[in-house]
Order: sequence, then C-alpha cells, then structure tokens
Amino acid sequence: MNHRLISRLVFIFSLSILSCFLLQPVMASSSESYEVSSSILNVRSAPSSNGEIVAQLMKGDELVVFQEKYGWVQTYFDGEEVWVAKHHLIQQASSSTEVSTEASNTPKNVTIKSESIFVRSGPGTNYESIGSAVSGDSFEVTDETDDWYQVRLNGSETGWIASWLTEQVTQTVQTSQASSNNNTVPSNSKSLEGYNIVVDPGHGGTDPGAIGFNGVQEKDVVLPTSTKVIDHLRDAGANVIVTRSGDYYVYLDDRVRISNSYYTDAYISLHYDASLHISANGIATYFADKADKHLGDSIQSAMISQVDLHDRGVRQANFKVLRNTSAPSVLLELGFISNPHDLSVVQTASYQNDIAQGITNGLIHYFE
Ligand SMILES: [Zn+2]
Repeated sequence: MNHRLISRLVFIFSLSILSCFLLQPVMASSSESYEVSSSILNVRSAPSSNGEIVAQLMKGDELVVFQEKYGWVQTYFDGEEVWVAKHHLIQQASSSTEVSTEASNTPKNVTIKSESIFVRSGPGTNYESIGSAVSGDSFEVTDETDDWYQVRLNGSETGWIASWLTEQVTQTVQTSQASSNNNTVPSNSKSLEGYNIVVDPGHGGTDPGAIGFNGVQEKDVVLPTSTKVIDHLRDAGANVIVTRSGDYYVYLDDRVRISNSYYTDAYISLHYDASLHISANGIATYFADKADKHLGDSIQSAMISQVDLHDRGVRQANFKVLRNTSAPSVLLELGFISNPHDLSVVQTASYQNDIAQGITNGLIHYFE
C-alpha cells in the first residue's frame, strides 16, 4: 500500500470522526476544554479519591473532558481513560473548534480499497450481507450515516458499505511525505515483504499525551518518530497502515478499528513517557496478552541494541488499544520527555532513525 492510499484512508477517517461530531451534538458538547486551577492536581485511574494516581497536572495545564461522573471528569492519558476532580478545573471559554464545514461533505463517489468487503442491508456489521465488492469497485454514494455509506447498486437498489474500507474518487492526489532519512535499510533486506504492520502514533490534536520538560508535548515527539518508523518499515518491504498522520485527535476505538479492518500482522503503538520523578528514564515495551510478550521481547531487545537509552524491560499492562486489537500488539514508550537527557536525545533525527531501525529489526526477527 502506498503513501497516497494511506493518507486518503486517514483523511477519510478524520472526516468520518468529524461527521460523528456533527451528527451527534450530544457527543460534541460533552467534549470540553478545561484548565487546572489548583497548584497540583492528581490524575486517577477511576472517578474516586481511591483511584490510583497515574499522573499529576499543574496549575494552567489544559485538558479535554469527555464525560463526567460523580463530580469527576474523564480525559485520556497515555491511551487510557483517566479521571480528575472537576472542582479543581475552570472551563475554557471556547471548546474545540476542530469541526470544519468541510467535514459535512459526503463524497459523491467512492472506490473500495480493501480486497473484498460485504455490502449490507443497513449501516452496521449487524445487518445482513446482500452482496460483496472488491478492491477498485466504484459506487455512487446516496446517503451517509456515522461511518457507513449508502451506495447505489443496480438501478434503484441500494446497500451499505463501511466508509473506512473506501476512498474518495474525487479527492486530489496528496504528495507523499518527504523522506529525508539517510539511514535506510539496505535494499537487499526486504524481510517484511507481505506483512501488514499498523503504526499507531499516540495522542494528537486535543490530546497532547504526556507533558515533558520545558512543556514539550508527547504528541509532537511521537509524530516525527512515527514518520521514521513508517519509512524504515516500508524500506523493509512492509505494508504500513497508519492510524494518525497529523496533529488531530483519533479515538482509541478508531485506532483499534483501523487495525482490525486489515489482516494485520502486528500493531505498534508509539509513545513517549513522563514521570513526576525527573530522574526516570529509558525505554519500555508493553504487551497486554501474554501471547504478545514474544513480539515485545523481540522489539525491545532490537531497540536497545540500536540506542543508548536505559532498558526498562518488557512489561504487561492492560492498555485498551492492546486489549482490543486482534493482531499481536505492543505499545512502545521510547524514552522520558520529563527527563532532560532523554528529551535531548529523543528529539534528534538520529535517535528517531535508530529507534525506527530497532523496531524494524525487532519485527523482522519476530516474523523469522
Ligand atoms: Zn502516550
């Protein structure tokens, strides 16, 4: 799969996510921006003062709230739902303005981009299949709801197809990302040929992820790193599917759904860590299902042999994106942006190239 198709896929996804906002004002109004008013605010795993403290926010920090329960509000931290006490927050005047008028445009025609898909009698996988379509088939779109398109079949007959398995016919060609890395895999090494790898750059948009030293945001370090990872994997012959290719918000469920829409061989979520303890440093790999520990071991040891950061090992954690993806999946914490040394290293192109090479080598070893 080439860059262009992937950009289109991600673009269509962001459209469908934005459409959800437009079609469901209840959801849109429930996502609001707040600012922390107390000097330190504990971030907990549950909406209760008994919930485990997973992070702390400082006065002036901003967060986006997705729901409210018992005086507690929910946001995201490192891909997990977390909670903070609402009375320590001040609501921001304007909430997210990401919804653009462009988002309501339903494409006129779409082409199937997945190998083979079902056409259904209604907008959901619970509706019966009334036919099938294959890659390259084009349809006129007659209606849209949530993430499904109603398309014209024969004459007046219509059916429903999943929007995330299609691409717009009319969309202009996007230029692929400029690749400036000098550290590519030797051309004889095409060891990931035929493998579908999902690269999931953590956070984005209204979710900054961890906040590090000097206010550096995790989402902004993850994105350039993911570009390097994608380049190295493609150089090794992999089909790379990307869940986020810019600075915008992607729901965890959508990250999972993207992965589960393909015959994904491995799902790799990219993150950087932060801690209240400035001395905390190094790289860790997380897996949820014990069966994925082997993938984690392989990637962690390959990364550690490429870069000089501390080895924090391979750990088990119940992250939603790992739990719900059907492919073997791992979440990589590629250094602490709250540690000045780690931060100075991980922001360099050479580190990001080396870590990308490590991840690629780890996958090659895993599939051997
Ligand atoms: Zn993260």
